Amino acid sequence: SVRVRFAPSPTGPLHIGGVRTALYNYLFARKMGGTFILRIEDTDQTRFVPGAEQYILESLAWLGISPDEGVGADGPHAPYRQSERKELYKAYADQLIREEKAYYAFDTSEELDAMRTMFESKGSAFQYNALTRVKLRNSLALPAAEVQALLDANTPYVIRLKVPAKGEIRFQDSVRDWVHVHTSSIDDKVLMKSDGMPTYHLANVVDDHIMEITHVIRGEEWLPSAPLHILLYQAFGWTAPQFAHLPLLLKPEGNGKLSKRDADLGGFPVFPMEWTDPQTGAVSKGFKQEGYLPEATLNFLAFLGWNPGTEQELFNLTELVDAFSLERINKAGAKFDVNKAKWFNEQYLKQQAPELLAKEYLGHLPAEQGLAFVSLFLDRITFPQELSTLVAAFIEKPSNYEEAVIQNKWNAEAEKGLRLLADALPKVAVWQADEIKHAIHECLEAAGIKMGKVMQILRVALSGNGAGPDLMISMQLWGKDQVVERLTAALK
Ligand code: GLU
Repeated sequence: SVRVRFAPSPTGPLHIGGVRTALYNYLFARKMGGTFILRIEDTDQTRFVPGAEQYILESLAWLGISPDEGVGADGPHAPYRQSERKELYKAYADQLIREEKAYYAFDTSEELDAMRTMFESKGSAFQYNALTRVKLRNSLALPAAEVQALLDANTPYVIRLKVPAKGEIRFQDSVRDWVHVHTSSIDDKVLMKSDGMPTYHLANVVDDHIMEITHVIRGEEWLPSAPLHILLYQAFGWTAPQFAHLPLLLKPEGNGKLSKRDADLGGFPVFPMEWTDPQTGAVSKGFKQEGYLPEATLNFLAFLGWNPGTEQELFNLTELVDAFSLERINKAGAKFDVNKAKWFNEQYLKQQAPELLAKEYLGHLPAEQGLAFVSLFLDRITFPQELSTLVAAFIEKPSNYEEAVIQNKWNAEAEKGLRLLADALPKVAVWQADEIKHAIHECLEAAGIKMGKVMQILRVALSGNGAGPDLMISMQLWGKDQVVERLTAALK
């Protein structure tokens, strides 16, 4: 059965691109009746950031795509944190050494730097490979006795993969189709570091094998590593999983790759949740705090690199699962479209239970009034927290009147209409939108004034603005006294 994993490194806040990777893995697992695993790849201790793992778990939980197995969920292959599986990787590296598929390399960083400089001075790039390894300090180049002596003296070493000098690596990626790479372009990658920790490559391949991962769905930035991973599977004699490399996420203007450094895209968040850098205290924005609903965030992310092949755009998580397939993932990079994200949020906002929105964002008001405000403003907002700002502005008396409207619409007839209304409105018996509308209509009709001549100027008189939500309902919510008071003030 299908087993997929999301394997982030806790080197900082989960980037929104990482969330998309998690989502596609989740969707594929659900679709295939498989298992979605969360593995934390924390073997690079120099890049470890406290709080990052917790952040990953909380972000996935907020979106409702939590793992079935792995960190935060346990399972048959625990522990799922690579730093807790250290010994395992060493055993596998030793196996490759015994089989002469990997070797010890004792070169110091100074020696390697010197090599690099020498190659650069000749206008080429240094690769640690079949051609150069013979000239370096490793167990393939040195006599066996010397290697033993170095080991006995506890000389620091790394373990490198012995990449064959000749050969072609081929694999069929679910997204990119056939990928061909010649082994000469791959260098003898380090598998074990001198601190006894495995590199990403070794730990990743060993764990994917042990955890019986069937499909590796990850970002395109890992495509260049895939041939090396294939070599590792071959070296171990294991079957490689099916690869699917997701298209890049591009900046809104399409000018280049979206990266973690784009921490703030013109006010647009690139992290699922707010993140406070533990070192600098700097706060980065999150979708959640900006007011994006989880459903909208998922729907937006799903379309960044995939499409259902139909016109339908709104998909809840269950519908996404039904529609999802690896075949429909695009090759081309996906542009991060701020307006599209907002549009999705508006759609899902309208589907929220108004009672909940009222309770959460207008809890300071009586329930009935809160609900009335929600229905008044719901199709005018993108984010739910705009409700309280709009309501506060609504309750506030106008401090000035929109100039352009006054200039266009203010005339003797409009003024006459307003004066008549100032007389008529206090007499409305039941202060309710329909009744108010009826009274205005009757009053103006009797004076031979068209509603159209007065309504916008009435709105400006009452709210200060030329545009806004339904005026009759607004008047009902302001209350009779307020309306009369505002109208009188405007006519002074
Ligand atoms: N730890 C890698 C990352 O941070 C995982 C890449 C992969 O999925 O193989 O993205």
